[in-house]
Amino acid sequence: MNAVLCSAQFNYFPFYTVDSTEQIQLSQKCSERVFSSFLVPEDVSSAYKKQYKQQKEESRDYVKSLVKYTSMNDQLINSFVQSVFSKISAGNPDLKDYTIVLSDWPIMNAAYVGGHVIVFYVPLLSRMENESQVAAVLCHELAHGQLDHVQSGLKKLLAELYDKEFQKKMKKTMKEEFNVQEKINMLTMKFSFNTRFHSREFEKAADSLGYLFMLNSGYDAYQFESMLDVLKHIDEAPFKDSTDFLKFFTCSSDPVKTQQYKSTSIFSRSSEDKEKDEKLRDSLRTHPDCEKRKVFIKGLMASHLPGVARETDAALFKKIKWASTMETIMADFDYQYYDMSLLNSLLYLDYAKDNEFLKIMIALNVYKIYEATKNHELSDYISNYSDGNPARLNDLLYLLNSLRLSELKSLLECFYKLNVASFTNDEFTLAANYCFSKMEEDNKAEQWQNKYKSKYTNGRFISLLELDEKPGKKKKK
Ligand SMILES: [Zn+2]
Repeated sequence: MNAVLCSAQFNYFPFYTVDSTEQIQLSQKCSERVFSSFLVPEDVSSAYKKQYKQQKEESRDYVKSLVKYTSMNDQLINSFVQSVFSKISAGNPDLKDYTIVLSDWPIMNAAYVGGHVIVFYVPLLSRMENESQVAAVLCHELAHGQLDHVQSGLKKLLAELYDKEFQKKMKKTMKEEFNVQEKINMLTMKFSFNTRFHSREFEKAADSLGYLFMLNSGYDAYQFESMLDVLKHIDEAPFKDSTDFLKFFTCSSDPVKTQQYKSTSIFSRSSEDKEKDEKLRDSLRTHPDCEKRKVFIKGLMASHLPGVARETDAALFKKIKWASTMETIMADFDYQYYDMSLLNSLLYLDYAKDNEFLKIMIALNVYKIYEATKNHELSDYISNYSDGNPARLNDLLYLLNSLRLSELKSLLECFYKLNVASFTNDEFTLAANYCFSKMEEDNKAEQWQNKYKSKYTNGRFISLLELDEKPGKKKKK
């Protein structure tokens, strides 16, 4: 990991375009295809039919917004993903009519959404180790598509929901006096949990067929297994070692003591409980059951040996990985997940010590956190401390929750003064200057606003600098 980073820490500034024509066209095309792929069954009850139609419409609307607001059509990352898909479809001609959408929505995933449309989320790319792993993810999703899993998943769900036994069970539950609501929740949970586009029992089938696509593609099929290893750990922070976050802010005249902000687990548990915890934790992972899936793939590999793998461009992949990481940090900021954006900026800055983009993102995130603390809205913008979080995130949350407003202010003052002279990107620097002036109340904020407005009429920080037509808070999604 470190070696990968060292050679690729180029100063990448995230992609931005005001022209949304392509995104709108793509969202129209994808949502229409998703809509028409749902074929309403004939021989079912009217209640079933109604539910089915509702799901059909919801899926169309979901895909429409997702593609319209989060898809990326940049020349670097999107072109790379499209080229991986081209190589897969060259070896698997049946897969030619798929559309792969690159999205910057902050989730470590890829998903088949129906209508031969696959959404690949940028953050997942930031954690892949090589091009073949990206191909393996795509092959798995393409298999979901070929097996029509959105349709069969929905039909299976509705069949169960309208099943007589199930309805009897619901009625019986309603009659019982205790914990009625809880039992209803338990019964209905399996229908709402993770079923939208994904049903876990289809994973095995998608892995089997996906592995065959992988063999045909010429990519290194052994990477199918290592890709599952990456998925297993994807909810953890990218670096294992503990980081002293405050070391980046070391010029404060009244230094905040680091040690007092180390978080510790507040629970201690028996080993039996830990085993139960592990099962629950696995089921809540973005990608559950990875160990089982690995065993299954190993079996497949034994009977269908991978052949000689095609050459891939390792240097290009490193560039893609770094760019995707920077895009993820930007997206977390844009979608107002300031804790995640700050956490990753700090962790990666530890490995790319002079990276300007990371430094500016630290300043912007700390400012947003300062502002939220000042307005008593911190809990709206940062996660709850939880044993389910990565340890590094808990450390940071603990720190952020413990700092007084004056301490946060002095951290940002220190950080800004240490680094501002090295900033060269005009647009990002203006944003940092504006935030600093807002915090300091030094009467320069308006000057930065005017400068920004004259140079970046449709810039990416219009809303941050409160230059948009309707100022006010963006809704957190
Ligand atoms: Zn899947």
